[in-house]
Amino acid sequence: KGPDPDLVAIAERMATVKHKILVLSGKGGVGKSTFSAQLSFALAAKDFQVGLLDIDICGPSIPKMLGLEGQDIHQSNLGWSPVYVESNLGVMSIGFMLPNPDEAVIWRGPRKNGLIKQFLKDVYWGELDFLVVDAPPGTSDEHISIVQFLQATGIDGAIIVTTPQQVSLIDVRKEVSFCKKVGVPVLGVVENMSGLCQPLKDFRFLKTTENGEHTDLTEKVIEYMREKAPEMLDLVASSEVFDSSGGGAAKMCTEMEVPFLGKVPLDPQLCKAAEEGKSCFAEQKCLTSAPALKNIVEKL
Ligand code: ADP
Repeated sequence: KGPDPDLVAIAERMATVKHKILVLSGKGGVGKSTFSAQLSFALAAKDFQVGLLDIDICGPSIPKMLGLEGQDIHQSNLGWSPVYVESNLGVMSIGFMLPNPDEAVIWRGPRKNGLIKQFLKDVYWGELDFLVVDAPPGTSDEHISIVQFLQATGIDGAIIVTTPQQVSLIDVRKEVSFCKKVGVPVLGVVENMSGLCQPLKDFRFLKTTENGEHTDLTEKVIEYMREKAPEMLDLVASSEVFDSSGGGAAKMCTEMEVPFLGKVPLDPQLCKAAEEGKSCFAEQKCLTSAPALKNIVEKL
């Protein structure tokens, strides 16, 4: 029996890709896709040739986060063409193939695996410095498939995104264990939503009345600060939000002997950038999250 022709075709496609990075998370909603999107923007801004492959088949949010909603994939004699944000940032996602974005994708494992195989075999990326793969949360069919399909060409490693609280970290341990079992190096763990952090002047100041309602005193408070202590308006206020008394991701990384890449705060401006499909580095608005993300990218 000769070599599997699909794996041969994948190896040929991947021969022009220098580095392959998986982005994983134990749970949904921790900011994995946001991180994948911003990582891709950051690498592209450094003039690397970047591909972003979304294999979160049931919940593809990458097209929206890259500002590419409603775009279609085109086919050429070289294969499926990614959708380009810029000439050095191409994106592929099942989101581009769904006639109606509200439609649920209810597929069993083999069909999902078939699409992932097709993405790896048939997408014409050309020369890439980085292929960033945004995986679904957990460790399921898609993860086993991507690792298996890329085995011959190798995966540089996985970045695991989590939030600081124990319920999320328990699942990260499973991701780390998955990576160890399948032989994918863990490049590191990112602690996202690591406290709310935003300029004081962007907060609302509320007074709670006896019946539990709120009176908005924002204007008064800002006016007061402007008069009495204008330097306060430049302060950035931070609050823990999630319980990190267990030591958060940093402690878990020490215990599991994997690198800790850093913390990214909950930043309403980052959420807005993701909603608008923009890079948080391009504009100066993501005051607290962009420098944190930049630090992490520098460590890779
Ligand atoms: P996942 O891919 O893990 O399911 P998403 O990346 O879709 O999670 O993030 C869930 C939501 O939280 C999105 O609306 C996203 O923009 C927002 N979000 C993620 N990280 C942050 C952050 N650090 N600050 C503010 N909003 C964030």
